[in-house]
Amino acid sequence: MRQFYRKTFSRAAARYNEDHLRRSAVVFSPHFDDETLGCGGTILKKRHTGADIAVVFMTDGSKSHTHLISEKESRTIRRREGCAAGRALGLKDSDVVLLDIEETRLQEHREAACHCVREILVRRQPQDVFIPYHKEPLLWSADHLATNRIILSALRTIGRRTRVYEYPIWFWCHWPWVRFPLRRRRDIVRHVMDHSFFRGVSLLRDFRCAISIKELLEHKRAVLGEHRSQMTRLLPDVEWRTLGDVADGEFLACFFQDCEVFHTYDVCA
Ligand SMILES: [Zn+2]
Repeated sequence: MRQFYRKTFSRAAARYNEDHLRRSAVVFSPHFDDETLGCGGTILKKRHTGADIAVVFMTDGSKSHTHLISEKESRTIRRREGCAAGRALGLKDSDVVLLDIEETRLQEHREAACHCVREILVRRQPQDVFIPYHKEPLLWSADHLATNRIILSALRTIGRRTRVYEYPIWFWCHWPWVRFPLRRRRDIVRHVMDHSFFRGVSLLRDFRCAISIKELLEHKRAVLGEHRSQMTRLLPDVEWRTLGDVADGEFLACFFQDCEVFHTYDVCA
């Protein structure tokens, strides 16, 4: 099944060309790491063509591993890592913007966020924007869905045609990309019918745009390594979970396939 999807994505990648890469872009990332997971290879590729790119981090990183460190420590660590990742992606410090809205509470601060986003869009006039996929599972990614809605409503007010690229993050966390969490045959069948089948249909229907990042995989891995608190244990404690722990590493592997995939469409006022 994975092979089938990969072949479909690489056929789509053939349609994406240099002209697309040169377009200016703003990448909106709900958390520090989504920018690299979802579009790190694409950002690197666009930077190589000299495209003007900015990354906007929506939330403040205050809720990571807070069973082991304080919110203040988490915020400091993750902001520093986000800025380091921005530099590793080839961005100037002025092209990395921190909106600093409390993590997990983005939806509650929707109006203020929308106002800031609108200002950024008016100032930078990007041809493309990158935002999280609108069908991210709510349970794990409320900030992802809030980011999607905030950017789309800001875009509708600026009176300018913009191409939107939606990238999946937690959406990958299902079969066939990660193995079944369930043991019994009956549970597996139910899981496929309830979740995997429809998500599989969404993958094929929505992700018609794929960008080959084959030659940049190692570079993308190095950029993601800048998010040290997410990739390694900062404390020698098994309770410090990393991205590599999710689904025994199968989730992380989804971001190191040959292509990054996107759901694309145009938004006009
Ligand atoms: Zn996230």
